[in-house]
Amino acid sequence: MRMPKWIIFVCISVIALLTILFTSISSIVVIVGMGVSLYLISEVYAKHAFREERRENQELQEKVRSTAKDIHLKNKQLLTVVSNIPFPMLLLDHKGNIVMYNTIDELLQDNGDCHHSMDYEHNDFVHIVQEFVKDSFLLEKKLEKIISIRNIEYQAIGIPISSKTRYSGCLILFQNISKTLEGEKMQRRFLADASHELKTPIAVIKGMVEILNRKDFEDDATRTEFLQQIEVEINRLDLLVKDLLQLSRLSLSQVLLERERTDVRSLIDKACRSLQQDIEEKGLKLVKDYQTEEMAFCDPQKMMQVILNLLSNAIKYTDEGTICIKTFLNNHSFVIMVSDTGVGISNEDIPKIFERFYRINDDRSRKSGGSGLGLPIVKSIVDAHGGKIEVKSVVGKGTDFIIRLKH
Ligand code: ADP
Repeated sequence: MRMPKWIIFVCISVIALLTILFTSISSIVVIVGMGVSLYLISEVYAKHAFREERRENQELQEKVRSTAKDIHLKNKQLLTVVSNIPFPMLLLDHKGNIVMYNTIDELLQDNGDCHHSMDYEHNDFVHIVQEFVKDSFLLEKKLEKIISIRNIEYQAIGIPISSKTRYSGCLILFQNISKTLEGEKMQRRFLADASHELKTPIAVIKGMVEILNRKDFEDDATRTEFLQQIEVEINRLDLLVKDLLQLSRLSLSQVLLERERTDVRSLIDKACRSLQQDIEEKGLKLVKDYQTEEMAFCDPQKMMQVILNLLSNAIKYTDEGTICIKTFLNNHSFVIMVSDTGVGISNEDIPKIFERFYRINDDRSRKSGGSGLGLPIVKSIVDAHGGKIEVKSVVGKGTDFIIRLKH
């Protein structure tokens, strides 16, 4: 900042006036001295102002540099965020140019390419995506649509962006929802199957109770038979509801396991004791073969359920012969193997038996009180342990269920 000119002008005028009024030598000396001082003061002032101006300039330059750096950094961060978004995404500016995108290969036509100068009209997207991009940009309002690209379902969302109330482009996202839709479909099927399973015993009980309640009903033998049948159906319902509850708990995304070092032999002994009567009734032979004394690291209650389900299936689907349960170590795995000499399972059926309510021989399974949920429960528990389940079977000869837990 320089000294304003009018101050210098006023000072010189004052000096001139004083010179006219007091023209003695001493006055002239004083006046000259004052003039020199004034000049020096103005010089110092000018230098200071110049320094000040230079400093301000430097500060301004520094600010511009750091703002540019900030913008560059923010752009880089935005690009990192965008490229890490796990589904295709496009950003269009106010002219409809595609100014930012991530991995969008799945939206392109077969020989399509994502080149630099793409806009809402000129691009290599498949037709349905082209239409959606065009509509989202031109309509300037939020759009949502389920679209299918090469048999994959996407939820496409177009979001308009405005800056200071002016439309400045749009953001378009394509979220793969095939798994969610598949999950919903499976849930609907499960609900339908579960209702059907519950309806059957309820219908039987209802029919029998109606007959028993008839005023003219006096047949004691039939009454006893019906009451026994009602008991069977109620037990089936009880088992079904328990299994459904257990399976729904196990299907929660995070199955809570209470793992500890477990003596699997004592679990097997306990399971065999509780099934002893069924084994004896069918005249089957039970063999326990413990080839390791090591402990397994698992949830004892849930593993008990696995052993019980596999053993009771082995009993249900074996008419004569032996049921064998074996434990051993193999390749860093603790192995539990349940074998039977029963009806066996065909190769075609093996992958399906872990599906809910899948039964190979519906009649046999229902007669023996099966809920059709025993193996799905076993699989959920083994999966939650990070283990593996394998089935080897020969129709008419028997089946091996092999469980491998990490050891
Ligand atoms: P269920 O209650 O019907 O036994 P599971 O889920 O336990 O239901 O088993 C599903 C189906 O797998 C059974 O209906 C049966 O057909 C078949 N299965 C299971 N275990 C055996 C086995 N040890 N031998 C032959 N078939 C079996």
